[in-house]
Amino acid sequence: MEILKVEGVNKAFGGLKALHDVNLSVEAGTVHAIIGPNGAGKSTLLNCFVGRLIPDTGSVTFNGTTSLIGLKAHEINQTGVSRVFQTPEIFGELTILENVMIPTMARRDGEFSLQFWRRLDADAEVRDKALHMLEDLGLASKKDIIAGSLSRGDKRRLELAMCLVQDPKLLLLDEPTAGMSRADTNNTIDLLQRIGEERGITKVVIEHDMHVVFSLADKISVLAQGTVIAEGTPQAIKGDPRVQEAYLGG
Ligand code: ADP
Ligand code: MG
Repeated sequence: MEILKVEGVNKAFGGLKALHDVNLSVEAGTVHAIIGPNGAGKSTLLNCFVGRLIPDTGSVTFNGTTSLIGLKAHEINQTGVSRVFQTPEIFGELTILENVMIPTMARRDGEFSLQFWRRLDADAEVRDKALHMLEDLGLASKKDIIAGSLSRGDKRRLELAMCLVQDPKLLLLDEPTAGMSRADTNNTIDLLQRIGEERGITKVVIEHDMHVVFSLADKISVLAQGTVIAEGTPQAIKGDPRVQEAYLGG
């Protein structure tokens, strides 16, 4: 079954055509990687899935019937699509636990706002769920640390916890290992693999690091200059001359 279907998506910024007739089909339960050189349009495409950008033309359909075009970011989130952006978006002045409690409560109550965080203290159910998630991601011992002071790797892990606690069906990750050491990168790969298997979450991963892509992906779409130029298994993509040309020649 297709969990995400992208058809004929175009997006221009002034005279610059960032996406040109993009088609993409993501199978439920798989890891689908989107790779491509810098400026290929990967983040632009992801932004079209989460309500940050509206395509000029084309459709983005979730779970067979739900059009994501025109929905607000929080509405898309409520349908079960969660995202981790290229730059971690966390509440830097709050503790790790508080950061995870906010989306936990948002999931339950349908609101996501910093101004409600003081209410969190009293909410045992939300606290327990958030704590459980932190244990699962190996962050429990740091729960009282102020998020802004965390290492880059831990910030990314925290952001992942904030997404997962909302029980998404589809998780979108924009360069989840960017700026990480090799050790942190490998931990993140393990984590993402484990998450997929245990929770049955479909993942779309934008990634620069080929080690990550080939470790994780079931299917790869290669984007170059706003167009999908190749698609297939990691094995097929590895040997595809168009892909090598896009990376090396262009
Ligand atoms: P990638 O994520 O693959 O590196 P992007 O999607 O960020 O690429 O960018 C694709 C192209 O669109 C680039 O040429 C970039 O400069 C341009 N672009 C992206 N966002 C904007 C924007 N908000 N305004 C103008 N141009 C943009
Ligand atoms: Mg990008």
